Amino acid sequence: MFHRSTSVVGRLISTSVSCRCTTWPRLTALFHKYSLVAPAGGAVRQFSWSSTRLSMSTTRPLTALTDEEQMMKTSVTKFAKEVVAPLVKEMDETSHMPSSLIKDLFEHGFMGVEIDDKHGGVGSTFFVTNIVIEELAKVDMAVSVLVDVQNTLINMLITRYGTPDQQDMYLPQLATSMVGSFCLSEPSSGSDAFALKTTATRHGDHYVLNGEKMWISNAEHAGIFLVMANVDPSQGYRGITCFLVDNDSAGLTIGKHEDKLGIRASSTCAVHFENVKVPEHNILGEVGMGYKYAIGMLNEGRIGIGSQLVGMAQGCLDNTLPYLLERKQFNKRIWDFQAMQHTVAELGTQIEAARLLVYNAARRKEAGLDFVKEAAMAKFYAAEVACVTTRKCVELVGGVGISKQFPVEKYYRDCVVGTIYEGTRNMQLNTIAKIMEHETINSTN
Ligand SMILES: Cc1cc2nc3c(=O)[nH]c(=O)nc-3n(C[C@H](O)[C@H](O)[C@H](O)COP(=O)(O)OP(=O)(O)OC[C@H]3O[C@@H](n4cnc5c(N)ncnc54)[C@H](O)[C@@H]3O)c2cc1C
Repeated sequence: MFHRSTSVVGRLISTSVSCRCTTWPRLTALFHKYSLVAPAGGAVRQFSWSSTRLSMSTTRPLTALTDEEQMMKTSVTKFAKEVVAPLVKEMDETSHMPSSLIKDLFEHGFMGVEIDDKHGGVGSTFFVTNIVIEELAKVDMAVSVLVDVQNTLINMLITRYGTPDQQDMYLPQLATSMVGSFCLSEPSSGSDAFALKTTATRHGDHYVLNGEKMWISNAEHAGIFLVMANVDPSQGYRGITCFLVDNDSAGLTIGKHEDKLGIRASSTCAVHFENVKVPEHNILGEVGMGYKYAIGMLNEGRIGIGSQLVGMAQGCLDNTLPYLLERKQFNKRIWDFQAMQHTVAELGTQIEAARLLVYNAARRKEAGLDFVKEAAMAKFYAAEVACVTTRKCVELVGGVGISKQFPVEKYYRDCVVGTIYEGTRNMQLNTIAKIMEHETINSTN
């Protein structure tokens, strides 16, 4: 199990490797493999969170990773390659993610990256969450979105706004075995999310939920649904409240799995609520504050989507380049044509630029600085880059680019959703322009 507190890795070496290895055997083994523990007779590498923090706050480049970040990156990269990659084709063809894979994600700590170790999570950082998302997306975006929603929306909402009882009840499960779904969108409210129509009517010590949610990621696997419903529609968005609804609640039904263009293995379903009784103590945070919580989480969450899109663009390019070195036309490697080299160089540069935007937004958020504009820029630009990259990669490899035997066509299908979920392309641009307007007015006053 990967977790940190005062001196992350030091503690990992000295205690957690031995005390958590029954629960987290695979990751513990990975840690050994990646030489966190010194070779016999050798010195243990010395580093601590405080020292890496200090160097980060001075001159650390955005893409230079702390030991903790690098360690998780190494573990996820290996997991993605060895465990996820062999399943990708079949998951895409069958539109299904096996529960054994989801179990593996939990066992490696990837589903509870920021959940405190007292609740069974890794106790790591938001930046590390983004590294996990990026590395998984290099191999499969559907797996990456499962991990993204769990960490950036579900776990964070409960960590930030849950009562101690709610945290004790749900966080240990979310860190180890329970998938969560975030239910905001409805058939008639997407970008205009707070025009939602699902109602929650009070009856004594409980509420009764009625309505329909749409496009809900992970719904088929979810043990808990975080549902935005209006307790007083006459108050408009100020009536929106977040409810914790268990999947076995009477009246809750999952609609059919959407048959999608991309991220086909990600479960996306409608969720219906018909007279679903939810106890008052399952309100998350305060009544009427749901819209605020959702805005806050989605502002952060879109950094995660940016990570996903950078990862998938990189994964697509990485799968393309070796072919260019091998394939010959006119007695030359197709790589040798300058037009091909320039395309590759442009794509590499754009992906790196998108990565810098994403890392900057994530690091600003962690540093407690304003990040909303940077997050919207990161998500907007990463989505553009992912779409351009996948289209160009199809073009670069020629006919095999549209064959199901070659991985590029799947990236081409998967990238599109990045321009839609957690705020469409236009909605990101609206946010960026709105903040730029404020900045301009403030700078001229
Ligand atoms: C695969 C997938 C998974 C999803 N997972 C979840 C989930 O887990 N939970 C959840 O709650 N939701 C989820 N969503 C929903 C997603 O957040 C919405 O699809 C998204 O917000 C867009 O809403 P919409 O599809 O209704 O499009 P609409 O809002 O109808 O937008 C249609 C078009 O109009 C444009 N438009 C709308 N308003 C404006 C405006 N003010 N200015 C300029 N252009 C505008 C949009 O940019 C877009 O081009 C998911 C969606 C998908 C596709």
